[in-house]
Amino acid sequence: RDRSPSRGLGDVYKRQEFSVTTEFDLVVIGAGSGGVRAARMAASHGASVAIIEERFFGGTCVNVGCVPKKLFSYGSHFPQEFALAEDYGYTVKGWEFDWPTLRDNKSREISRLNGIYQRILNQAGVTIFEGHGQVLGGGKVSVGETVLTARHILVAVGGKPFVPDLPGREHVRISDDLFYLDTLPKRVAVVGGGYIATEFAGILHGLGCQVTQVYRGALFLRGFDQDIREFIAEQMKEQGVTLKFNADVASVEAINGEKHVNYQGGEQAVFDEVFYATGRIPKLDDLFAEGAAPAMTEGGAIKVDDGFATSVEGLYALGDVIDRVQLTPVALAEGMWLAAQLYGEHKPEAAMDYHNIATAVFSHPNIGTVGLTEEQALARVPAVRVYKSAFRPMRYTLGDKQERSLIKLIVDDATDKVLGLHMAGEDSAEITQGFAVAIKMGATKADFDATVGIHPTAAEELVTLRQAV
Ligand code: FAD
Ligand code: NDP
Repeated sequence: RDRSPSRGLGDVYKRQEFSVTTEFDLVVIGAGSGGVRAARMAASHGASVAIIEERFFGGTCVNVGCVPKKLFSYGSHFPQEFALAEDYGYTVKGWEFDWPTLRDNKSREISRLNGIYQRILNQAGVTIFEGHGQVLGGGKVSVGETVLTARHILVAVGGKPFVPDLPGREHVRISDDLFYLDTLPKRVAVVGGGYIATEFAGILHGLGCQVTQVYRGALFLRGFDQDIREFIAEQMKEQGVTLKFNADVASVEAINGEKHVNYQGGEQAVFDEVFYATGRIPKLDDLFAEGAAPAMTEGGAIKVDDGFATSVEGLYALGDVIDRVQLTPVALAEGMWLAAQLYGEHKPEAAMDYHNIATAVFSHPNIGTVGLTEEQALARVPAVRVYKSAFRPMRYTLGDKQERSLIKLIVDDATDKVLGLHMAGEDSAEITQGFAVAIKMGATKADFDATVGIHPTAAEELVTLRQAV
């Protein structure tokens, strides 16, 4: 199947014909992170389960999200690795980069993963329907001509990119498009200051494009720790990414194959491609038949209670479509929680815990973060101690690569509890994942101090911070 987003998604679907039952305990709409996990777990608890998918097994994360993005991020680090190799005595001559090779190898791997997801569902005994699912009401769901009946229906349809309504909107591209570009553009604008825009800016720059990241506010990555945001901005500028902050795009024009960006205030710039990464919204297209929709939040997401129940009896929702935390591990955890709640022998004793969820931005360099930012911590406790260290990774010390790392701990002064851990720099995501366990367990600064480090590593810096700043 052709999954290229630019080639019309509507015509690639195929409904599988089944002569099997159409009555299930659970019908899941959407075989993405949350839906697949909920379906599998429900089946493992003994429920009869069907899942409906209209586009790609594995959902956003596997097909146009986490996985291809991370593969591209790996790919985009090679030029700097070649330069570094020379500092270590290697002669690296005449390397070239072939975009179609990276793109197609990635697509092959994604196809393999699609197959694995389908197999996992089959092996779990989940009945698969390919096509568009629609909630009809009264415990019924349609997929094409087929109508399924279920005791419980789970909507796990995820989200889709949001592009503001601006003149020339049809000339811009969305994150899905990056994964299937015919050619890599030379000059690129990436509009947005969140996860996707910052990751894409790093990837495209690493692959050799001239990148301008355009953000409407004074400093991107709103919601992350202020020091980390400033640090990443410095590092990206140092690498050669142009950061254009306090800039609003008024319109985009396509002239002779180029994209002309007109900023509010009259300034203009010309690019080969303009990517918009300005958030994602719930994918509710034609999802509910008339009268079958549950209550929505003010932001247009499906409203659920602590048990992921919507306002409609027997109808549940989770993952990006409820717009709590748009991360794959969160959708997975929600899926497991719900399956256990509905069909498990041991029901969860408490609502799903959203505290201290670690997250990473795979920017260049990475950001890893868990717990509260300094600003959030100060809003909750009277006094905090802040520990900080910036350093140049040892790997870079033989040459002139100037990239640095920053680590920061936020500690409640009264209880000594570590409220937040933030890191920007090489391996931040990997390091943060390990420390997230300690933070989740309520580790104190004294616990960090009592931990003997591993030398020489970057991570040891986190257990050798002695002086509060
Ligand atoms: P999805 O994974 O989006 O799955 C929803 C599924 O439902 C899709 O397969 C869709 O085709 C299907 N569907 C929708 N409507 C219907 C219908 N009516 N009938 C049938 N099927 C339907 N998260 C991370 O944790 N780490 C990352 O590094 C990361 N990187 C990302 C990079 C990008 C570019 C993007 C866009 C997202 C990234 N995310 C990342 C976020 C992550 O992908 C999502 O949080 C996660 O996929 C949400 O899972 P979900 O199950 O809610 O929805
Ligand atoms: P984000 O919410 O992270 O960022 C959206 C950005 O777009 C913000 O900078 C926002 O600005 C800006 N924006 C919003 N509306 C407009 C507008 N009308 N005009 C101009 N700018 C606008 O969304 P993303 O699209 O980057 O990613 C979606 C979600 O997917 C993320 O929130 C994250 O949960 C998940 N994701 C996770 C990744 C990971 O785990 N590594 C990677 C990629 C995505 P402002 O801040 O001023 O509101």
